[in-house]
Amino acid sequence: MQKLALVGLGASGLFALKELAGANVEVHVFDVGPTYDKRYPCPIDQGKLSVCPPKACSYCAPGQSAGSWNDFKVILSASPVIGGRLYDLIGEQELQKRLDTIRHTILTHAPVEIPVVKPDAEDLEWIHKKATLAGMTYHYQELLHCGSDNAPAINTSILNEITAKGPNIVFHWDTKVLSLSRRGEQFALVYDSYRKPGEEHEEIFDLAILSPGRGGANWLTQQEFYKALDIYPGQVDIGVRVETSCFFTEEVDRRFYEPKLYYQSRHANDVVRNFCSNPKGYVTPENHRDYVLVNGHSKMFEKSENNNFAVLVSKTFTRPFKNPQLYSQTIAKIVNMLAGGGPLIQRLGDLRSGRRTKSLTNNLIKPTLEAECGDISLAYPHRILEGIIEYIDALNHICPGVADDSTLLYAPECKSYPDSIAVSKNMETNVPNLYIIGDSSSWTRGVGQAASSGLLAGEGVRQKVGTATKIGAA
Ligand SMILES: Cc1cc2nc3c(=O)[nH]c(=O)nc-3n(C[C@H](O)[C@H](O)[C@H](O)COP(=O)(O)OP(=O)(O)OC[C@H]3O[C@@H](n4cnc5c(N)ncnc54)[C@H](O)[C@@H]3O)c2cc1C
Repeated sequence: MQKLALVGLGASGLFALKELAGANVEVHVFDVGPTYDKRYPCPIDQGKLSVCPPKACSYCAPGQSAGSWNDFKVILSASPVIGGRLYDLIGEQELQKRLDTIRHTILTHAPVEIPVVKPDAEDLEWIHKKATLAGMTYHYQELLHCGSDNAPAINTSILNEITAKGPNIVFHWDTKVLSLSRRGEQFALVYDSYRKPGEEHEEIFDLAILSPGRGGANWLTQQEFYKALDIYPGQVDIGVRVETSCFFTEEVDRRFYEPKLYYQSRHANDVVRNFCSNPKGYVTPENHRDYVLVNGHSKMFEKSENNNFAVLVSKTFTRPFKNPQLYSQTIAKIVNMLAGGGPLIQRLGDLRSGRRTKSLTNNLIKPTLEAECGDISLAYPHRILEGIIEYIDALNHICPGVADDSTLLYAPECKSYPDSIAVSKNMETNVPNLYIIGDSSSWTRGVGQAASSGLLAGEGVRQKVGTATKIGAA
């Protein structure tokens, strides 16, 4: 039997594994995280803290599999602009088939009923008119919001089913893959314990699926095979996490949960979009060890009075600059430096007036994350801030109140996407038998498409090793 290494068991790795359970291949799964049932619970859920800590939070640390454990919102519609670019790779119908499989799997494993958020004809007419008058473009999507509180049960249940169906699977938890390199037509993989390093091992594999996520994208660039791949520079999104009253956004929240609204800035013609809305949710830090970003999540049962969402300005670079990730990380580090190590918070009114926020004591909106008051304009480029302010002003036509002076802006909210790697329709790179999936491939930007890319790779490997299954089988 051939041997396959699967590196990373986040959203994409899990669904690749689902496809490979019981296949004619010995699968070795490596993840730096502990077993799913031991992944750290949020200290707020445990009642140990009342707000997120300003710095490190284990909820967002490496090994926690990001969005399939935090908030766990899954976009279910095949869209050319939302959640990734698989639409361009495999087309609408094929992407929708995979997203339907993911929806079915999650709903089957959910411990409670999770409603699919689906706008009706009246909602669509409403948003089309409002968005047009605001100078924005609405993109249709259906989504599932599982919530951080349901995420552990859903993921654990999916994994248990895979394990039961997969005697061909060997798990290496708490294990960091140090390197993967070509050895003739095979791959040499070197790994060590993540928490207690010191005993490196090497193992040879015939095939490899790499799914280390955005957090592992840099690791990918340092591997021996990387120079042999066909790659194109990735994009960065730089923006803020907006926190406002849920009363200002309640109509769109009720109708859409998260309407995808795109805007072209008048100032610089940049694309500005909203992302990751969390009605009645909480802002959280996202700890990357050497810098701290902000993010947001919400729960199915426990609610705040605020809504938070990201407003992001997208940038791509042309020659000679080739390192968009370094650009966004540098901006993030400047913000952290000004804030004494964590995120900054500023009232929208203070940003407009060019002054630092000093206190939030009498502010209408109470923050759900403790962050240092300051001045984001000391760290962010002017065109980015102009784009953000223009976006919030346009949104104010749809959600009156969001552009109030009291609205809170947290920085840094930066998303850097890895280089885009050329792949086949089954996510196989130009290095034979090497598949790169999920956000590290840059083809995906969210749980739904990351998981879809995992299914595609799993199907590709199954076809290679000789036991293809029916697409869409749950
Ligand atoms: C806080 C947060 C909240 C988010 N919320 C949402 C959301 O609600 N909805 C949404 O659609 N998207 C969300 N996202 C984005 C989403 O998480 C990603 O798009 C998705 O998880 C990508 O899946 P992936 O499999 O590529 O990577 P990940 O899910 O990040 O998984 C990567 C895995 O690889 C492991 N790994 C990395 N390097 C190594 C190595 N060298 N050796 C061994 N293991 C390794 C990691 O431990 C991890 O388990 C969120 C992201 C964050 C950070």
